[in-house]
Amino acid sequence: MCVFCKIVANEIPSMKLYEDDFVLSFLDISQVTEGHALVVPKKHCENLYDLDDESASKLLSASQKVALALRKTFGLDGLHLINNNGRLAGQSVFHFHIHLIPRYESDAFVVSFPRNKPDFEKLSATRLKILDNFD
Ligand code: 5GP
Ligand code: ZN
Repeated sequence: MCVFCKIVANEIPSMKLYEDDFVLSFLDISQVTEGHALVVPKKHCENLYDLDDESASKLLSASQKVALALRKTFGLDGLHLINNNGRLAGQSVFHFHIHLIPRYESDAFVVSFPRNKPDFEKLSATRLKILDNFD
């Protein structure tokens, strides 16, 4: 059984924030910033590719509930909703989860988007490649 399945089954303890029939949210054991929370489906699935529709929708509404509580608790002006999907993206627990990471003026967390000048030819070619692969 994976570590998050053990948390869901109460076989190992966690700092629970929210629970319903489909999802569980608890504090990440290693806090990127204060209040860093995880939201996981109760039904095991490895990642986004095998997430079922019901869990997906419940995960997003539970994430919103937890995000609102975090915002109220810490007076947040920013919060990331992040999923590390796959090894190269930094996934280390292979049970799908959403990270909710509060941002504070003084924190040292870095997420960098290059914000390049748009290259519309490249964008169009990229789009066509992807469109070929919808099932
Ligand atoms: P990933 O790297 O897969 O995106 O995120 C996995 C997260 O799970 C990490 O941030 C890690 O700190 C957290 N984590 C791993 N094991 C446990 C645990 O036993 N309890 C809790 N609360 N968090 C865990
Ligand atoms: Zn699991």
